[in-house]
Amino acid sequence: MPNVRFFSGETVPLEMHKVRVVQKLNLPPIEARLAAATEAGNNTFLLQNKDVFMDMLTDSGVNAMSDQQVAAMMVADDSYAGSATYTRLEAKLRDLFGMHWILPTHQGRACENILAQVLVTPGSIVPMNYHFTTTKAHIVLNGGSVEEIICEKGLQVTSSEPFKGDMDVAALERLVAEHGAEKIAFVRIEAGTNLIGGQPVSLANMAEVRAVCDRHGLTLVYDASLMADNLYFLKQREDACKDLSIREITRRIADLCDIIYFSARKLGCARGGAICIRDEQMYQKMRGLVPLYEGFLTYGGMSVREIEALTVGLEETMDEDMISQGPIFIEYMVNELDRRGIPVITPAGGLGCHIDVMRFLDHVPQAQYSAGALASALYIVSGIRGMERGTLSEQRNPDGTEPLANMELVRLALPRRVFTLSQVKYAIDRIDWLYQNRALVGGLKFVEEPEILRFFYGRLAPVSDWQEKLVAKFKADFGDSL
Ligand SMILES: *Cc1c(COP(=O)(O)O)cnc(C)c1O
Repeated sequence: MPNVRFFSGETVPLEMHKVRVVQKLNLPPIEARLAAATEAGNNTFLLQNKDVFMDMLTDSGVNAMSDQQVAAMMVADDSYAGSATYTRLEAKLRDLFGMHWILPTHQGRACENILAQVLVTPGSIVPMNYHFTTTKAHIVLNGGSVEEIICEKGLQVTSSEPFKGDMDVAALERLVAEHGAEKIAFVRIEAGTNLIGGQPVSLANMAEVRAVCDRHGLTLVYDASLMADNLYFLKQREDACKDLSIREITRRIADLCDIIYFSARKLGCARGGAICIRDEQMYQKMRGLVPLYEGFLTYGGMSVREIEALTVGLEETMDEDMISQGPIFIEYMVNELDRRGIPVITPAGGLGCHIDVMRFLDHVPQAQYSAGALASALYIVSGIRGMERGTLSEQRNPDGTEPLANMELVRLALPRRVFTLSQVKYAIDRIDWLYQNRALVGGLKFVEEPEILRFFYGRLAPVSDWQEKLVAKFKADFGDSL
């Protein structure tokens, strides 16, 4: 997707696809949005999709498919064992990653279950650039622990660093020296770090990590769920990749790894997942778990239609026009917000746009769930559903005290090829209005707080009548406009 300069001087991202199947959207009036927010306990996970205009909750399983993907779904070979559909997926993964041994799963966390059961032992350690929620849960469930060794620049909210997802290689060496290589279950690199703004990992950093793994006989595992965005950033930002095709960059990455796994809800714009393994013995150890948890070895819990769509989607990931769409729209949105002085994570990454709520709502205490409050306020003023990533997503300490998160973020995901530029402009405009009126936004308090995963099911209420005041100001400024 190119950025094209208009005659007017404005530079605008230009879609390299046309829309041929559409879903009707609904933008309810603001009073109805306030009612829906109240009904959902001010928790965007509990909103009904019919009340949502732009669903920016996640990029998982909601990316647009191409005509070629949909066509492939019509010719799937439905059989329990030995399906030709699965053979096509296996051949595509071998072709792209150069790894022979493939295991299919129903989604990304299912790969993590298998990896953790086979590789993690009680007391073992898994060093990684940054954790993902389900990854960490599976490692901990199997008695291991996670050591995050993200590079120093990775956690700076605003920056111009191109590769904030890089691992601190010296810290990896220190971990090996301190605990011994035999304590290290595996080393994990996550492409396009999900929880810290979709920031990419450089090829140079991966090569350094590989060298450490070689010195100490460690297994290197690559979580490729967000690899499409990462590939685009490598092509754009790393000199060594400028003259390589996306396919060549893919192979350079794969050649550094022992195991690659991914969620096909993101990579390949379908639903499902897979583990690709270089070593046959390793494959043998993992294989037995697939029929137990997923399904037979030639479908792994996926429908054959999804497998066909995934095979085509993986090939389409080699097209720079296709993988650049998400990052370029996100860059447009981040830069436009930044230009208006609205606090966002910079530089723009993959996955979505992240609002820095500590600065956006600096008058709302973290203990009143400022990021949750902003997600609720944004839904009320725009019909846009984002996701809270802050204190609300943490778990209470056993003594009942509240651990405050390092960052309070509202994540606005941009599912790939789903939104148009005018919708993105609408989002920018309503966030801008909310920022100008941020003093009106107050905090939230729990009215129902589940003990586990409270961010999924918890219900909250505003600490004052701030939501009614926000609605009144919106109506004063916009009149009857939605
Ligand atoms: C989404 C995701 C997963 C988990 O995948 P699911 O398909 O949701 O189970 C794992 N790792 C990363 C980096 C992800 O983004």
